[in-house]
Amino acid sequence: MKPAAFEYLRPSSLQEALQFLADLGEDAKIISGGQSLIPVLNMRLSTPKYLIDIGRIEELSYIREEDGYLVIGALTKHRDVEFSPLVQKLCPLLAEAVRWIGHPQIRQRGTIGGSIAHADPSGELPCVIAALRGEIVIAHADGEETVTPEEFFLTYLLTSLQPDQMVKELRFPILPETSGYEFTEVARRHGDFALVEIAAVVDLDENNQITLARLAAGGANPVPCVLEDAEEFLIGKVPTVDVLEEAAGLASEQVEPDSDLHGSVDYRRSLVKTLTKRALQTAIKRAGGNAR
Ligand SMILES: Cc1cc2nc3c(=O)[nH]c(=O)nc-3n(C[C@H](O)[C@H](O)[C@H](O)COP(=O)(O)OP(=O)(O)OC[C@H]3O[C@@H](n4cnc5c(N)ncnc54)[C@H](O)[C@@H]3O)c2cc1C
Repeated sequence: MKPAAFEYLRPSSLQEALQFLADLGEDAKIISGGQSLIPVLNMRLSTPKYLIDIGRIEELSYIREEDGYLVIGALTKHRDVEFSPLVQKLCPLLAEAVRWIGHPQIRQRGTIGGSIAHADPSGELPCVIAALRGEIVIAHADGEETVTPEEFFLTYLLTSLQPDQMVKELRFPILPETSGYEFTEVARRHGDFALVEIAAVVDLDENNQITLARLAAGGANPVPCVLEDAEEFLIGKVPTVDVLEEAAGLASEQVEPDSDLHGSVDYRRSLVKTLTKRALQTAIKRAGGNAR
């Protein structure tokens, strides 16, 4: 199928794009990399009167360090994040997670703003930004505001974005250099969206006790799920096999997966448990600790 007819607009600045959004409201849709929107248009699941192509707004493509955050512009391509030395240095979890997104061709076109706005519950970026307690900067014609992932992601493919708003920037807190990380997932085929994915970061003190734990699951709830019970449980513990087993059990109890064609509730829950344990083992190793 082909998309329904639309009028194509190509603003050359952020302000111009925001003015289009303010003037056209619900009749307009932003297109950035087009990797998710084009199939939606082709299937006529969405029939906007106007498409606002932000693909050439260069001011929205950047990766920089700012006030303790790694800050990434919405139009930055997954591929640029994947190969950025700054991302590798300041937020290696993100660099690792991005490599799980689709295939190189998709990462070459897809943008981080598009992934966040699309809000797929199995998307890697929503899971990472939730685990790290990052921030999403939203712009509109009259200014901008910063929201948490919890405020932003409402349910499957639905966010708090209003018709006159767009994602401008993602902000990831920089964690201690000594911390270890791991992003892992299970998908039916290489490059598919994950059935379940886990993002983990831990840091340990000189006594091998956990001082920091960040954990989130994707694909297991309608929105990314911060595994707070497991995080709290881990703090102050020496990571023995039993401790990791118990943390993984808490993680699997906290998620509320749905059953679908690809996996039952029980299967997804058991994936959360297995992947959480594996992710923690690797993160602890990378933090210089040991899990015996
Ligand atoms: C075969 C295939 C496999 C894929 N596998 C994965 C995967 O494993 N993991 C994964 O996370 N993704 C996957 N994707 C999706 C891919 O990551 C997309 O790049 C991403 O979801 C959307 O980014 P985009 O720039 O292409 O956005 P678009 O497709 O252009 O837009 C997507 C939606 O976001 C809105 N939008 C875009 N940018 C903004 C903005 N700045 N502000 C507000 N709204 C905006 C659009 O209006 C639209 O509703 C896959 C895609 C394909 C085709």
